[in-house]
Amino acid sequence: MKLTIIGPWGGYPKANAASSGYLLEHEGFHLLIDCGSGVLAKLQNIVHPEQLDAVIISHYHPDHIADIGVLQHARLIQGYLGKQMPALPVYGHSLDQQEFSKLTFKNITEGIVYDPNRELTAGPFQISFLKTDHPVPCYAMRFEAGGKRFVYTADSSFKEEFISFSQGAEVLVCECNFYANQNGKPAGHMNSLDAGRFAREAGVKQLILTHLPHYGNLAELLGEASSEYTGIIKLAEEFQVITV
Ligand SMILES: [Zn+2]
Repeated sequence: MKLTIIGPWGGYPKANAASSGYLLEHEGFHLLIDCGSGVLAKLQNIVHPEQLDAVIISHYHPDHIADIGVLQHARLIQGYLGKQMPALPVYGHSLDQQEFSKLTFKNITEGIVYDPNRELTAGPFQISFLKTDHPVPCYAMRFEAGGKRFVYTADSSFKEEFISFSQGAEVLVCECNFYANQNGKPAGHMNSLDAGRFAREAGVKQLILTHLPHYGNLAELLGEASSEYTGIIKLAEEFQVITV
């Protein structure tokens, strides 16, 4: 699997950047994981919107879904210009029907409910879900293909169930919205120590910190997380490519 970070920012995009969006590719299949503000503009440096094969959404906060509408417009307009495309499957949970309904647009995109209690097959990916601790319903996802595992926490405070869910993953993309001296739990987020402990206990091979805060010295997040976890740790960066 090839993972490309499209947007590493939590809450809103930094100037000329994007909030949550990750492109996962395998065997020519392009899956966009979350589609936050700024993602469509940045994504086009990697693939055209009409080349996407599926989208999956962790939850309906704007920094994870704000660009769904413009993605729909992009495919509508490219269709007018003669590009032939099937309706794009956009997988989301159904615990917010009003938001879920927006995933379907004409015959351009089709919202498809995922059942978090069952494995989902999307192209070459087997996807499993774990409900997170966040102010709105949100699901972490484990992607498996080619005998490898990649886990994306989406948004959450730390919960013990993450450990078994992520056991032995090649790559853990873990939200890290707070520094070590801050308690992320009331906001439904993790701090750097949570992320480091999580990576250590789950025995993952590589930790990528994402959903980054807009203040402080981000390099400190790395130092703090590495006091808990001695494996490879990186900050998510725009267009960073990670081979899983
Ligand atoms: Zn959120």
